[in-house]
Amino acid sequence: MTIFRIALPTPLRRLFDYLPPTAEAQKAPAIGVRVRVSFGRRELTGVLIELADTSDVPQAKLKPALEVLDQTPPLPPHLLELACWAADYYQHPIGDALHQALPVLLRKGESDQPSLQQRWHAVPDITVDAIAPRAKKQRALLELLLQHPEGLDNAALRSAGYSSAQQKPLSDKGLIEQREVSPDNTTTPAKTALLCQPVLPLNDEQQQALDTIFAREGFNPVLLQGITGSGKTEVYLQAIERILHAGAQALVLVPEIGLTPQTVSRFRSRFAVEVEVLHSNMTDRQRLDAWLRARSGQARVIIGTRSALFTPLQTPGIIIVDEEHDISFKQQDGFRYSARDLAVMRARAENVPLVLGTATPSLESLHNAQSGRYRHVRLNQRAGNASPPRFELYDIRQQPLNSGLSEEVIRRIGIELQQGNQVLLFLNRRGFSPALMCHQCGTVIECDRCDARMTLHRTPPHLHCHHCDHQRPIPHRCPSCHSSDFKPQGAGTERTEGVLQQLFPDTDVIRVDRDSTQRRNAMQDIMDRVHDGRPCILVGTQMLAKGHHFPAVTLVVILDADAGLFSADFRGMERTAQLILQVAGRAGRAERPGQVLMQTHHADHPTLTQLVSQGYEAFAMAELAMRRDSGLPPFIYHALLRAEANYRGRAEAFLSTLCSALASDGLSLPGVSWLGPFPAAMEKRAGFFRAQLLLQSHDRRALQQVLSSITPILEQSPLARQVRWSLDVDPADS
Ligand code: ADP
Ligand code: ZN
Ligand code: ZN
Repeated sequence: MTIFRIALPTPLRRLFDYLPPTAEAQKAPAIGVRVRVSFGRRELTGVLIELADTSDVPQAKLKPALEVLDQTPPLPPHLLELACWAADYYQHPIGDALHQALPVLLRKGESDQPSLQQRWHAVPDITVDAIAPRAKKQRALLELLLQHPEGLDNAALRSAGYSSAQQKPLSDKGLIEQREVSPDNTTTPAKTALLCQPVLPLNDEQQQALDTIFAREGFNPVLLQGITGSGKTEVYLQAIERILHAGAQALVLVPEIGLTPQTVSRFRSRFAVEVEVLHSNMTDRQRLDAWLRARSGQARVIIGTRSALFTPLQTPGIIIVDEEHDISFKQQDGFRYSARDLAVMRARAENVPLVLGTATPSLESLHNAQSGRYRHVRLNQRAGNASPPRFELYDIRQQPLNSGLSEEVIRRIGIELQQGNQVLLFLNRRGFSPALMCHQCGTVIECDRCDARMTLHRTPPHLHCHHCDHQRPIPHRCPSCHSSDFKPQGAGTERTEGVLQQLFPDTDVIRVDRDSTQRRNAMQDIMDRVHDGRPCILVGTQMLAKGHHFPAVTLVVILDADAGLFSADFRGMERTAQLILQVAGRAGRAERPGQVLMQTHHADHPTLTQLVSQGYEAFAMAELAMRRDSGLPPFIYHALLRAEANYRGRAEAFLSTLCSALASDGLSLPGVSWLGPFPAAMEKRAGFFRAQLLLQSHDRRALQQVLSSITPILEQSPLARQVRWSLDVDPADS
């Protein structure tokens, strides 16, 4: 008898046994095919993991599966294995982990065959001169289509930063047309050219980086540490070119915030081959089609965010993780995997080079480089003519501040604007003001559902909790003393924008944060305004920190360099340093030199001064030494068990029962220790009281073993119905 052991998307950490479908021929299906089954009253799509001879379930109770959906498995065996390994390592239910490795439509049971596609093409025998030079964007769009005779679909045009505003006039004039392309003839016509743009001659450092990536055949992990503007992207492009020549494909992972049209168009305008982008703004159908073109080998370069990690490639050639330090590579809910860490596993399995690129490596990767697991190459010079920015700590103790701006900052902004330059102000707080206080009695308005203050927003006026998203009107009277005399405390981006607009009435002040970019194409409009090159002031949150190239920005002001200096999380300093350097990297990326002015109340803080005077690596080395001495990651492995309940103390009680089990039932192993349970840093959030228990060990295997033995206990605990819990292996924050 054959038993199908199937991974189903349920919260249970196990496989489910079924009989083969009754109607099916007797031929055994391949491991990894999708199978539709009835589960309780529902129908689910699962993945066949094992064929067994026997089952623990009595045969009379076994149900036949409904249907085998695939002839061949949608994921190649090594990716199926990687996803299973990850489910195990991150202690996540295997059925759900496998689902997340597949595009949504495949999870729903759709066929894995590509559909017909509408693509834009330039009409035959046309040149860019059909468009007047002043219609710059239309011309660029036509040029892009001329470079891509295989055609580009709407999603591709959007991700390259073109909207219907450029596309419509071109089609109205009959210069471009939309044609239906069937899946088999989208393959690039036997083209000899891979490039549609000449490569830049590499400088010595870049050349050395490129040589290191190919220093040996097969798996070769490289940490490429290059200051912002040092030409890392150019190194990626030339590494990809090399593997394209060999007939292989490239997978490029970028942070969520880094997938800008600028990034995408750099790849598209360099390569004449099909470049596919996978991001969250695509429809499920578009994503599936892109995924299928990667799998069939039609798409040669695949750029995507975290979830693109599981995209199958016909001929894997290289994996690149850009901004490897970025925490968006770690999924923060559900299946809490690190796409960066899994990229290393994948590159090993596919036996291809792996590049982890960043200006500010994570301490984990630096540690791996130091211990010889990764090769380490550095780009210390800016490419082209640009020089690194000059840093200045500006002590604002006892200085008068105008909504957070010192007189010196205002003066310096004025000087830059007068010289025709652009200025960028970084403040990682959106809204008008982070707190609203009663001037009579000092009461600060807090969120009812969180241990947190509500942020005041002015456009439109309301109070907003940035932790649970709760919103409410601004109160007329203080809840304690009934006075109506409220004062906003501190400044967010909205307030800073307003003050700057008053101080510099003739200058364009552009705010960039989650609120100002909600509208479709808002970010693109902002970039167009900035790239027009006229003097302007950009004020924004970390949305400004990554992926952007602002050639005319000469001054970067960090309004609150102290934010994050005294964080409760031991990673606070690392994150602060990374963020400061990423923002600073926006300054002076072209001919005009850049300056970075940091307002601080702690101008003699040893870490800050070291960071600005000696640079990131010196800082990181000191930080690593500190982590070693304090027994913190990456010198030990962490797993964080989080729990929350709607009564205070309940989550802690739940975790305490686990601690007793660990202590008395011999569940623990030598070398595995635990700390807690203790309340989370913000105990109450969205109405839930949160607690956590930290498990740690120097021995990854022992920790894994303990984790696998506690998950069944957690699942079966009588308290489990009253708490929500999750296990985070290698957490990125606490
Ligand atoms: P990074 O990715 O490290 O921030 P980029 O690759 O974006 O750096 O390069 C920064 C700028 O320098 C870009 O405008 C790029 O075109 C230019 N550049 C990169 N490499 C070279 C080179 N070898 N010669 C001239 N300019 C270069
Ligand atoms: Zn009051
Ligand atoms: Zn809240």
